[in-house]
Amino acid sequence: MSNAEQFDRARLSIPGGVNSPVRAFGSVGGTPRFFVEAKGAYVRDVEGREYVDLVNSWGPAILGHAHPQVIAAVQAAAAKGLGFGASTPGETQLAELIRERVTVDGRSPIERVRLVSTGTEATMTAIRLARGATGRRLLVKFAGHYHGHSDGLLAEAGSGLATLGLPGSAGVTAETAAQTLVIPYNDLDAVRTVFAQRGDDIAGIIFEAAAANMGVVPPLPGFNAAVTAIAHDNGSLVISDEVLTGFRVGSAGWWGLDTQTPWLPDLITFGKVVGGGLPLAAIGGSAAVMELLAPLGPVYQAGTLSGNPVAVAAGLATLGAVTPEVYAKLNATADTLAAAVSAAFVAEGVEHVVQRAGNLFSFVFSPDVPHGYADVKAQQAWRYPPFFHAMLDAGVSLPPSVFEAWFVSAALDEAPLGRILDALPAAAKAAASA
Ligand code: PMP
Repeated sequence: MSNAEQFDRARLSIPGGVNSPVRAFGSVGGTPRFFVEAKGAYVRDVEGREYVDLVNSWGPAILGHAHPQVIAAVQAAAAKGLGFGASTPGETQLAELIRERVTVDGRSPIERVRLVSTGTEATMTAIRLARGATGRRLLVKFAGHYHGHSDGLLAEAGSGLATLGLPGSAGVTAETAAQTLVIPYNDLDAVRTVFAQRGDDIAGIIFEAAAANMGVVPPLPGFNAAVTAIAHDNGSLVISDEVLTGFRVGSAGWWGLDTQTPWLPDLITFGKVVGGGLPLAAIGGSAAVMELLAPLGPVYQAGTLSGNPVAVAAGLATLGAVTPEVYAKLNATADTLAAAVSAAFVAEGVEHVVQRAGNLFSFVFSPDVPHGYADVKAQQAWRYPPFFHAMLDAGVSLPPSVFEAWFVSAALDEAPLGRILDALPAAAKAAASA
């Protein structure tokens, strides 16, 4: 069956043919590819075509697909049982490893960790903790930041909502929506104002440690620290969402890179890399806040599959293999690729800005550096679909939306990189003539 036939068939049984909206090629058009296998830098579709992958499962495949150490760990764990609904030694090991890795210069924001299955659950629990800890109602978030699909977090969110141009979601009650205050990113005046006006009611503020769900928009230097200080002065909790950046941009995630001005979030959420490609995510924070969780405290949270042993094995194997040398390689690969794409655009006179946050990058079709959602929405987004399809035709799979980050993996060696570089001139030409 071809990709098109698979898509037709899928749509008869699955809404839109996909189990997560961005997979549907909604903003780039055309037929989504149905993949059957992935190894190293490549994914293969049902038609037998191979693509160099710059999506990498939206982040988790940081080592490349089907890394031998990760697969071996998963197979060994699966052979011992798929889950017990009871505690396992691996869960403690993973919690310890997370704590160790976020200890930077002797400072760690994490004393306790709870494992869950998705990033959405992690942020949902973090918010419940903020409300439970403060007894307050409201949550502050930034426009264009994505924190999963729980009711309170879909207001002006990035990722698929940015791709589809949706302001929020039907099915979220007005009462729930009103409990989330959305303010512009990288705008400290907006942060000061919202806390000055509603401070007594604000339980917490949540932000992507470096925004990467509206394309990449890093925080201005010192922004996270300043936001944290304002929130803490007000008695509100700070939730740094590192589902995307955690253990991807460095050993200690964005927290380990953003050290110019010291800051200490109350809670950090992880996902993607921490689960090595299987459904696993985590919330970490101080003992005082985390021990408000059941069974010790009054904030309830639970999960049949939480800390699943196979997912834990994938996470442990992945974190164990992402060494400082691997991060150095990922940074170098991101440097090479971002510079090559930019050069191809320059050669065709395509106005653009390269956006970086560690090894994450994306491009904005605009002359100006964007600092928030309004800026990225104002770009010449129509240039992306022809660029995307030219790359896809040449055997390179990019994120199917201009509002997403590109994800490099450690498997991007000379041959796959060469294929990407070869594909760029024609793709840039397609972007120029759009
Ligand atoms: N937070 C951030 C920053 C994310 O990037 C994502 C997913 N892209 C989520 C939360 C939600 O994670 P999940 O899709 O695993 O629910």
